[in-house]
Amino acid sequence: MTFTAVELIETKRDGGTLSSDAIEWLIGAFTDGTVPDYQMSAMAMAILFNGMSPEELAVWTRAMLESGDVMDFSDIPARKVDKHSTGGVGDKISIPLAPLVAACGVAVPMMSGRGLGHTGGTLDKLESIPGFVTELDTQRFREILTEHGLVLAGQSGELAPADQKLYALRDVSGTVPSIPLIASSIMSKKMAEGLDGLLLDVKTGSGALMKGIERSRELARTMVGIGESYGVNTIAFITSMEQPLGTEVGNANEIKESIDVLRGEGPDDVTELTLAFAEAMLILGGIDSPRDRLDGAIASGAALDKLIEVTIAHGGDPRVIEDPSLLARAPREAVVAAPFDGYVTRCDALTIGAASVRLGAGRAQKDDIIDPGVGVSVKAKMGDRVTAGDALAVVRYTDESRWVAQRHNLASAWEISIEQVQPPRLVVERINATSF
Ligand code: URA
Repeated sequence: MTFTAVELIETKRDGGTLSSDAIEWLIGAFTDGTVPDYQMSAMAMAILFNGMSPEELAVWTRAMLESGDVMDFSDIPARKVDKHSTGGVGDKISIPLAPLVAACGVAVPMMSGRGLGHTGGTLDKLESIPGFVTELDTQRFREILTEHGLVLAGQSGELAPADQKLYALRDVSGTVPSIPLIASSIMSKKMAEGLDGLLLDVKTGSGALMKGIERSRELARTMVGIGESYGVNTIAFITSMEQPLGTEVGNANEIKESIDVLRGEGPDDVTELTLAFAEAMLILGGIDSPRDRLDGAIASGAALDKLIEVTIAHGGDPRVIEDPSLLARAPREAVVAAPFDGYVTRCDALTIGAASVRLGAGRAQKDDIIDPGVGVSVKAKMGDRVTAGDALAVVRYTDESRWVAQRHNLASAWEISIEQVQPPRLVVERINATSF
């Protein structure tokens, strides 16, 4: 059967359903360049407006997955479990989580991403450890995983290339926030990783891809459904992203906060989420008494040692893990002060994330270079009492003109009122295959 892209776009535009053959042809022809970017952008927009049926989504995800290599780690005896977050501000959870879980006997082949929009990326944070290499070929990825039970790398070029092309197009064509496109994008990569289990952190709120709980829930359910259809036990947590996680937003400063968690000295919210996810990953990995194992790995230093071990394997300098004061630190410092007395009622993740990116902690354009020492330390969060002049945040930056451009914007993230509010619940919901 022969297809033309324009007919398939028209079918989707008019609310029709694409056949399995049509989807397989389209993804194949887009990957090899026969279908040009402008036609695939039009298709993405038609999908954004008209959605996909569960059958279309299953075929679309499989076609993206099969556009590249599928990893096979069946020779590694430990169960393989990864975690994926839809992205947030101050979301460094993967960095303490992965070594903690690996120290308890579950293999973690973690493939992470770079900062996107106002959100930070695990790879960018790891690269603030001098020498740490995150781009690995499949052979080296496998070697590190086999030897250390943990690898922390980027998506290899051979994994789901259809998604790599499509994601770049969606990013510049206003078609990112489509649930079937997000779900198939994330799950095509995760299902190519040869996993036994997957934990998904679907963020909800101001700083998240999905702002409202209904859409967050729909995304979580869609991804859990795809995971289970591949025989990969999948659990999704819906977690709050109204305000940044922890106190640090940036790169080197988020590494420092991750080390604090592994030393048992991290902020309560980051520690709580790390332990909740680690427990779920150990359960997915078939480990008994998970809480005891986790507490033991932190108390004995085994989890921190695992981070040191994997840092060396990736070519990084382990001295910065032992002494985080050696991490990069931008030369200038400024304070965002409380204008009057009261309680913090808003500490907006999106505003703080976007300002940090513009100060140099992220990229405005694809090829921008990140300044690892730039960061915002959040000193007052929702529910906290402040007095006029108290620091709401301490900002480290390099470029004075960027700070001048961002100072008012950053300060607008906080709202102070005479009424105290409760901070939002961190874990909003937990979804697995039996929840729907
Ligand atoms: N992350 C992805 O990998 N894909 C999306 O579509 C959105 C977030």
